[in-house]
Amino acid sequence: YSTFSGVPEAPKDPILGLNELFREDPSPLKVNLGVGAYRTEENRPYVLGVVKRVEQELANNPNTLHEYLPIEGLPEFRSLSARLVFGERSPALKEQRVVSLQSLSGTGSLRLVAEFLSKFYQRGAVCYLPRPTWGNHWNIFPAAGIKCREYRYYSDETHEVDIIGLLDDLTAAPSGSIVLLHACAHNPTGADPSMTQWQEILDVIRKKQHFPLFDCAYQGFASGSFERDAAAVRLFERATVPASEADGARERPMEMAVTQSFAKNMGLYGERVGAAHIVCAAPAVTQAVLSQMKQIARGLYSSPPAHGATIAARILKDRALFAEWETEVHVMSSRILRMRRELFEALHENKTPGNWEHILSQIGMFSFLGLSAEQCLYLREKYHIYMTTNGRISMAGLTSDKVQYLADAIRDAVV
Ligand code: PLP
Repeated sequence: YSTFSGVPEAPKDPILGLNELFREDPSPLKVNLGVGAYRTEENRPYVLGVVKRVEQELANNPNTLHEYLPIEGLPEFRSLSARLVFGERSPALKEQRVVSLQSLSGTGSLRLVAEFLSKFYQRGAVCYLPRPTWGNHWNIFPAAGIKCREYRYYSDETHEVDIIGLLDDLTAAPSGSIVLLHACAHNPTGADPSMTQWQEILDVIRKKQHFPLFDCAYQGFASGSFERDAAAVRLFERATVPASEADGARERPMEMAVTQSFAKNMGLYGERVGAAHIVCAAPAVTQAVLSQMKQIARGLYSSPPAHGATIAARILKDRALFAEWETEVHVMSSRILRMRRELFEALHENKTPGNWEHILSQIGMFSFLGLSAEQCLYLREKYHIYMTTNGRISMAGLTSDKVQYLADAIRDAVV
């Protein structure tokens, strides 16, 4: 007998559980398209050259210590990560209205923001998540006491953003709701709004006085350009909202939050490098907001890890290292684009029924193929091809030598 005899087993995480199944499969044919991590053309994990060099430098530097970081993280990392996402000319940064904390990659940063909103944003506000979304969003917000609902995001018919459904749902949501948006390279669909659609989303959010929360986990991975992938965040950051009478002004800057992960774009997955940014309307409130965020972080994990953030800060600070990083991100995003093209062409050539254009139009690491759960399981059982049962494949897990095998298996699954 144990005090814990009555503890029911939790369901396996759909993505991490898939990796376990993959590891246990003895077939030499097996292909893992479930991984959310970049793999090289040889299907190997990739440590960026620029990261390796900085690590060498740190290892050789006798002044490298292993002291605790402050609760809010490494000062240079905090400011440089904010500059990466908001840009050199950000009004909020210039006006010192942004509270930035280093936190535990994207997940920890989301949790920190969720805890803060749960304590200090409008009581009972619901967080609207896109349908579908990264599954962990459904763990993070409820764990912080925030209820979640969905807004329509993706159309299975057009394989594009369901902009009408999205705008309708955000219009129908109670004023002041929290709205989670993927900054770029939407996971799992790979479908992002166009800039015109982002403007429409912004207009609804302004009108309804919702609170936008951008989850930015793939900056640079979608287009290969840090600037382009941050365009939606920057559009919102520069927006204003109608002021209340108490403000005594006509408009005030929009308030929002951004969480940032360096897992994918610097390949620092296990180092847990990320940041949480709260954009406030006025600099006067930032000190109190920072103090509360620190209080929450202290109780959750005390202080963030130093190693990865030290590497990231070196790269973000030094012009030459930054340029090298940008080149490597471009190499990674180009390989992903090449895989999209090769898979599309193979499906075209083997005459797989259906229209597969969306493989080309979707962006980022993932592609939403449009396969049913049964078809995904069929691919797993017959061909040892592993993907989540929503039909999402990681383009970064695909290599040229497997494209034909995958295309022929898909053809078999859909005919
Ligand atoms: N948000 C989205 C949409 C993601 O896809 C991921 C990673 O898969 C994350 C956040 C956070 O990941 P991490 O905590 O590893 O930075």
